[in-house]
Amino acid sequence: MERITLALSKGRIFTETLPLLAAAGIVPQDDPETSRRLILETNRPEVRLLIVRATDVPTYVQYGAADLGIAGRDVLLEHGGQGLYQPLDLRIARCRLCVAVPEGFDYGAAVQLGSRIRVATKYLKTAKAHFAAKGVHVDLIKLYGSMELAPLVGLADAIVDLVSSGNTLRANHLVEVEEIMSISSRLIVNQAALKLKRTLVQPLIDTFAETLHDQPDA
Ligand code: ATP
Ligand code: MG
Repeated sequence: MERITLALSKGRIFTETLPLLAAAGIVPQDDPETSRRLILETNRPEVRLLIVRATDVPTYVQYGAADLGIAGRDVLLEHGGQGLYQPLDLRIARCRLCVAVPEGFDYGAAVQLGSRIRVATKYLKTAKAHFAAKGVHVDLIKLYGSMELAPLVGLADAIVDLVSSGNTLRANHLVEVEEIMSISSRLIVNQAALKLKRTLVQPLIDTFAETLHDQPDA
């Protein structure tokens, strides 16, 4: 039997993908929040899911360990997208990538003066491109999480991070000073799998596309 494998992360992406899978008649047999399994079978014997770290999803699909995946635009830009076909914006896990600074820091003045600004982020590539395009001088500091902490303890003047409600920023006395881009998750497909497993992959892409098309814009 020919099978297809879809890689995705648990948390908001998994939760928001469930309705799309359901529209394609796919129901996972386990809940990744409670199960320790990393390979989830579904009600359809030819479809299985891999639960991987969000930043690892493009890598699994690039090398064909998964035929398809669901990953944020933020993650795809850092990965580079080699070997990936990106047929659909699924419009899930929506947020924005922003520059944020402590309440008292005058970002505009620092930029005007041409000062070097220390920026902590896990999005090195995207941040580098953004500040280069604006002619802002920055020293980038790579972090893997809890970026909000960096300006509070003097590690950085600013952060580049994802924001949705803004509650985490507010709780840490940070303010958003620049939006870099809007973010949502995309369906990604291994380019070889698209050709070799087209009879399984294409109907899934089509069903997702129709389901999105039928949804009102949120
Ligand atoms: P962890 O939080 O466990 O370190 P992570 O940050 O890699 O893992 P998530 O926080 O689950 O993973 O984020 C996965 C993806 O969901 C991100 O790549 C982004 O596209 C999206 N995302 C992240 N934060 C938000 C948010 N606040 N609102 C909406 N979508 C978000
Ligand atoms: Mg996170």
